[in-house]
Amino acid sequence: MEIVETIAEMKALRRQSFGSVGFVPTMGYLHDGHLALVKRARNENSVVVVSIFVNPTQFGPAEDFSAYPRDTERDLALLEKERTDIVFMPSDKEVYPEAFSSWVEVGKVTEPLEGSRRPGHFKGVTTVVAKLFNIVEPTRAYFGQKDAQQATVIKKMVADLNMNLEIIVVPTVRESDGVAMSSRNVYLNPQERQAAAVLFRALTLAQGLWKGGERNAERLRQEMVSLISKEPLAKIDYVSIADAETLEELLEIDRPALASLAVRFGKTRLIDNIVL
Ligand code: AMP
Repeated sequence: MEIVETIAEMKALRRQSFGSVGFVPTMGYLHDGHLALVKRARNENSVVVVSIFVNPTQFGPAEDFSAYPRDTERDLALLEKERTDIVFMPSDKEVYPEAFSSWVEVGKVTEPLEGSRRPGHFKGVTTVVAKLFNIVEPTRAYFGQKDAQQATVIKKMVADLNMNLEIIVVPTVRESDGVAMSSRNVYLNPQERQAAAVLFRALTLAQGLWKGGERNAERLRQEMVSLISKEPLAKIDYVSIADAETLEELLEIDRPALASLAVRFGKTRLIDNIVL
């Protein structure tokens, strides 16, 4: 496994690579969710590149950038075990030198949900991902369904800007009680961690109603809100039933839909979703 910290070195290694390149961008502090993407990339490509970069431009001023968990040694051991070929872990200065002044912005699908609660978040995400795509030049890049809107936004950027790669979305990996794996779960105290299981219960409740023939989106939202409200440690940010492609809120579920939510447990904000 090669560990590279500069863009020049990463580009040089890319030039020497043969066959398809599978790329998994991450912010590190890896868990089985990340590793599912790496395994999928390993199965489908000759070369696997994983990046570890906690991207400062996608965090708001009141968000957890400096507190974001990091454990490079452990991450590298996990990636080695998954037979990763190249780990790209640039510094902030390497990615954003002093004079940096260009940004990639996707419209419309970045506006609702996470976009409306985290101004500038997706501008940071699309800019860094576009840069990483230019540096790594992957054949395929792997993203998690856990961050459903992010995957939608990246797909839109790739289509709109005619980028030369395939985006693959991998199902959400969950703990045994249904909680979606996330680097941010370490912030939860034991009571909050237990309470967080209500999110997946609410999503499966919505899915059950939908499978039973319920097509009224507001009814599903209300049922989810009412279940989550029974959990005293949970503070709802949003509960959404939206068009799975445009992410616009639905009245009637007459097409593929995304049930998604953002809920706070103490200082920790968790997101999750399920496709209907
Ligand atoms: P992050 O390090 O949080 O930026 O995540 C890196 C990638 O891993 C993103 O594409 C995430 O959607 C994906 N990911 C994070 N958690 C999970 C999970 N529980 N299951 C599947 N993919 C995940």
